[in-house]
This record gives sequence, C-alpha cells and structure tokens, in this order.
Amino acid sequence: MTLATATGDISPDQIIVPSGHWIGGRTLEDGVAPLSVLRPSDGCLHGAVAEAGAAVVDAAVKAAQAGQAAWAAMRPRQRGDLMRRWADLVDRDRERLARLESVVSSRALHETRANDVPAVAEWLRFYGEYADKLEGTVTASGDDRLSLILREPYGVVGIITPWNFPLFLATWKLAPAIAAGNAVVVKASELTPWSVQGLAELATEAGLPHGVINVVHGTGPVTGRALVQHPGVAYVTFTGSTATGARIMSDAASSGIKPVALELGGKSATVVHADCGDLDAVADHVTWGITRNAGQLCYAGSRLVVDERVADELVHKVVQRMQRLTPGPTWSDSTSLAPIISERQWSRIDSLVQRTVDEGARVQCGATPQRLQGGCFYPGTVLDDVRTDMTGFREEIFGPVLCVQRFTDPEQALGLANHPVYGLSAAVFTRDIQRALASARGLKAGTVWVNRWGRTPEMMSSPFGGYGQSGIGKESGRPGIDGFLRSKTVWVDF
Ligand code: NAD
Repeated sequence: MTLATATGDISPDQIIVPSGHWIGGRTLEDGVAPLSVLRPSDGCLHGAVAEAGAAVVDAAVKAAQAGQAAWAAMRPRQRGDLMRRWADLVDRDRERLARLESVVSSRALHETRANDVPAVAEWLRFYGEYADKLEGTVTASGDDRLSLILREPYGVVGIITPWNFPLFLATWKLAPAIAAGNAVVVKASELTPWSVQGLAELATEAGLPHGVINVVHGTGPVTGRALVQHPGVAYVTFTGSTATGARIMSDAASSGIKPVALELGGKSATVVHADCGDLDAVADHVTWGITRNAGQLCYAGSRLVVDERVADELVHKVVQRMQRLTPGPTWSDSTSLAPIISERQWSRIDSLVQRTVDEGARVQCGATPQRLQGGCFYPGTVLDDVRTDMTGFREEIFGPVLCVQRFTDPEQALGLANHPVYGLSAAVFTRDIQRALASARGLKAGTVWVNRWGRTPEMMSSPFGGYGQSGIGKESGRPGIDGFLRSKTVWVDF
C-alpha cells in the first residue's frame, strides 16, 4: 500500500473545533477537558473535550425541558419552517461542517462535502416537511361519543451515537425527533465529538428555541449512562454496537422503564448467484460494500455468499479492485481507503482476521495492518473458504474485510446467508425475478437490496432497521418519525 499524497489546501491543524458542551443555546465551558481527541489520519492530537458528569447532563436535560415547552407551543408549520431555515444554514456552512466532520473521523473530506453534509441538510428538510402532517385519527362510537387518538411527543429524547458517520447518524435521529415536537440531548462519540456541536450551533442561529438541541460530551460509561438514566429523559435512541445496546436497554429498564430504539451491529451477506449478469458490475458493488469508510459501516457487506461457478472470477475481480485502493488522510482528495478510527479498533480488526486465518480461512489479499505517517490503515482483505464456525463469520469485524462462503447448490445460499445473531441488511444478485423475490422473503434482514448494494439518497423515504440483534425500531421514512410520537386516546361524550 502506498499512502495518498495530500492534495488540496487543507491543513488539518487549522481546523478550529468548538469548545465546551452546547446547552440551552450556548457553550458551557466545563473547566478541565480530560478526553484527548486524536486524528485517525495521522495519529496527532487535535484537541480535547470535557466529560459531562451527572450535573452537566442534568443541566442539559433541564435546558431541553424548557426548550421543548417553547418548541411544542409553536405551530407545527412554524417548526417546519425553522427546520428548513436550519437546513439552509447547513448548506451555507457546508465547508466548515465538512471539515469538522472529517478531521477526527474516518470520513474523507471530499465525501463529507459531496455527500454527508448535503444529506444532513436534506434530512432536516425531509423531516421539517413532516412537522405539520402528523395527523391523529378519530373514531365514532354511536352518535354521542367520539374517540380522538392524538399523537404527542415524548418530551426529551436522549440520543447516543457512534463515530463512523457522526454527523449523519445524529441527524437521522434528531431531525425526526424534533419534527415530532421533542427536544433532544445528544451525546456523540467521544472520538468524534465536534461536528454535531457545529450543527447544533446553527440551530440556534436558525431561530429554534434555546434548548431544543443540546450536545454533551463524554464517554459512554459516564456521560452516556447519566443521560440514559436521567429521569427527565423520556425516550432513548441509540446507534452503536450490540453489546452497548444491551447495556443501554438494561439501564433504561432499571431507570424508569423508558422506551429505547436501537440501531446496532451487522454481519450482512451479499448473495451472488451464477445468473447475476455482469460480474464487473457485481464486483464493483461487493468491493464498495466492504471498503466504503474502510468497512466501518453497520450495513457493510462483510460476507460474500457466492455460487461456486462464478466464485473464482468474482473473487479475482474484487481482489483487483481492493488492491487499487489508496489509503491516506481524510483531507486528501486521492484517498480511497479511509483510516481506521483508532489504534484499538485497528488491533481488534487484525486479531479477528488472524484468528479466522488460524481457523483455516484462505487469504486472497490483504490481512496485514499498516501504519502510514502516523495513521492506522488496514488493507482491503478477502478471506476465502470461511465456514460458519469461524470468527470471521460470527463476529462483526468493522473493517475492510470480506469473508467469502461458497455454495454449490443455490438452495444452500439462504442457509449460509442468514446469520444466527445479526440481521441488519442483505443483498442478492440474480437476474431471475422469482429467485430474487424468494430470496428477499427468505433473507432474515431489515433491508434487502436486489442487484445493488447500499442505500441511495432517495431511500430516505423508506424505513431502515435491523432484525435479530441488529436492533429494535426503524429509522428513516415515515416510521422514523412515528417512533418519536406516542398516542393518547381521548373519549368525548356529548
Ligand atoms: P459503541 O457501542 O462502542 O459506542 C456508541 C456510543 O455509545 C458512543 O457514543 C459511546 O460513548 C456510547 N456508549 C458506550 N457505552 C455506553 C453506555 N454504557 N451507556 C451509554 N452510552 C454508551 O459503538 P462504536 O464503536 O462507537 O460504533 C461502532 C458500532 O456501531 C458497530 O457495532 C456498528 O455496527 C454500530 N453501528 C450501527 C449502525 C446502525 O444503523 N445499525 C450505524 C452505525 C454504527
């Protein structure tokens, strides 16, 4: 692997990050900032954040309660207008947000400019349009009795998000939450704390009441737990690992039986039948599916389940594509393989790969961690002949590592593709419509793509969420906002 050379005019040291927490429409400086935030691209220290303990979390929840009261008192149409104005400010400040998003994450600057930040603006507009269209229902019981089924916000929603798409994953939650009339307290990952705060500051400039959007920083066990357990938080929505999701569910149960929505890990299969058509096109999808953001993606297509008749040729094409990837810093335009977010995650990827190799998997390419100019990189890796008892099949690796399982009888494909634990997404490539539909029905996953891999912008209108231990609840589309509303039945006699 050769490192991409820095292109463009960005010096990461010049990217200024916010300080303190963002509470009630202003910065709350918290004295000491004990949490160092490193740049994964070069391993340098970029800044530090404070860790919100119970008192700061309490201040944020109180600010959110006040903000929610003001927000709920507005006409829904006005709330939608303010969300659209907020989206306009995101467009205006696209470059600043794109840099904030990219500098301490694995997200390439050219992608945060072209995709992530524009998607954030679109998401605010999309849910802003829903704000005044959240109708309830009326049922009649005879001529003298009506029941009104009203839909109401929960109040304060606690949002906890991971580091892999920091800005976008937070917006997936906060946009529908506030469009439904809630206020939010967001705890972003301690590895990527600042971009969400940059977004929150613009909400205040757009005219949203102070306290509708609050951001607190800190680690999961301290700040995250304090947020989940706070009695003023009525609903918790979380994206992250399955292990943390289980802890949050248990904390939410023991601190007031509050509802939780969980978007968790995945081990998604891409099933390729011999009648898949153009193998180059399939290889493009398979490669992108596991190397986008260096595989640090919940719905990464991390398993290839492929018909033996096309397996060698397809694997060869994927290996060729992986070997063309150029690792490099997020601020370089020529980078096509992102850095791994932390040294810890990098070592974890390698130990899972080595364990799978020791268990008998065949290395087709990659499998050697690399340190390049201070950053941690992992090459595109293909492990072949992976069996269902191997580590590479069972564990979410969260790196650019494709595990290949071959089948000789198409009837075996679904049995191999369905995972005993995870069910976030799956893809199937076949030109046979009956096989495609039968596969879509048989795949145990919340989303199935046929003849493609991955979400596109227009998929914001359809729900996304996992089966099994990949999660509870749906984000995106209409169900994404319905989850932030509860219903109240009002009986009226007259
Ligand atoms: P993580 O579970 O380690 O952390 C996620 C967030 O939870 C962080 O903000 C962390 O500080 C916080 N946290 C940790 N312990 C906590 C606790 N006890 N209480 C409250 N909060 C706590 O996950 P990560 O390493 O940041 O992200 C990678 C994981 O996220 C992968 O498993 C990936 O599949 C998953 N993910 C899922 C989706 C999806 O939509 N399903 C999307 C992106 C990432």
